[in-house]
Amino acid sequence: MSDCELQKRCMGCLRFFPVNAYPWKDKRKGQRRSRCKSCTNARTGAWRALHPDYGKRWREAHPEYMTTYAQARRTAARAERSTHEEPQCDPESIDDTNSFSAL
Ligand SMILES: [Zn+2]
Repeated sequence: MSDCELQKRCMGCLRFFPVNAYPWKDKRKGQRRSRCKSCTNARTGAWRALHPDYGKRWREAHPEYMTTYAQARRTAARAERSTHEEPQCDPESIDDTNSFSAL
């Protein structure tokens, strides 16, 4: 089975490409998109060009998402920091009676 037999036609440019020229639609199911990578990129790029501030407007339309998301991130960062914090060293608590027993 060669790659030539696995060609499929792009719905965008109507040219034939090997299946690996098509981005995954659902990798688990083995499904690929109907447009080749360059057509997909062109469409995505065109959409982005038409909606340059989509992300900004979405964030403005969903401020509560951003605050909860930012809060979750801060909480996660704080938890991360506390786990990596140096353990507090209290000289009184150090049990050195067994420290050198192995020597
Ligand atoms: Zn194409």
